[in-house]
This record gives sequence, structure tokens and C-alpha cells, in this order.
Amino acid sequence: MSIFACERCGCVDNTAVTHYWTRKEGSPALCSECDPEIGKWHGRFPKQSAAGMVTTPDGFLISPEEDARSRQAEEAAKSVDGVKHIGLFGVAKHYFEMGWNYSARWHADKPLPRLNPPE
Ligand SMILES: [Zn+2]
Repeated sequence: MSIFACERCGCVDNTAVTHYWTRKEGSPALCSECDPEIGKWHGRFPKQSAAGMVTTPDGFLISPEEDARSRQAEEAAKSVDGVKHIGLFGVAKHYFEMGWNYSARWHADKPLPRLNPPE
């Protein structure tokens, strides 16, 4: 469940109650009211402007509070060995690119990595 800004009216809508995922490639992301195929607000939550929301690198919206929390988590991750340079997002991306099977195989023949190896 992700929220996005309507490219026509600038309100916040949810990908689950619009044609966000099924829209034609390259066509704008529209809220249910601006989408001619739906044509009215769904009423699941009040219609409100996306002004003040933070856009993530993948184009979705998060609240400024959520943004602050994820920045804090990223900062905290920097103190963990091995995560220093790529951050939490980098770790997720690495596993995604390698595939979860790779990760499972890797862990199968190696002892569990120690986050804080003894000096
Ligand atoms: Zn709209």
C-alpha cells in the first residue's frame, strides 16, 4: 500500500484504490477523481493536498515524520560494520539484486556474520 501525488490535481491518493499500477506506461498517475474511468473520489479517506509530503526516490509519498524516522534509521545503520558505505537502502538493493536465493545459499555455507567482531 503506497501513496502518491496525483499528477493532475496534486492530491494524495493510494495506489490500491486507483488504476496506478494498471495505467498505460508513460501515462500520468491520477487520483480516482481525475481518472476519467473512475471519475469520483473513492471516499476511503478525505481528499487532501500532497503539499508538505516528501517524495521518496521511487516516486511515492511519505510524511515528513516518516522521512525523519528513515533518516534516523539510516544514520543508526552507519554505525554497524559493513553497512557504513551503502546504508539501509543499499543493503536492501544489494539483496534484491543478488536475489534472496543467493543470500540463502551464502548463509548456508558460512557461519553467521558477526556485526561486532571482537578486537
Ligand atoms: Zn487528481
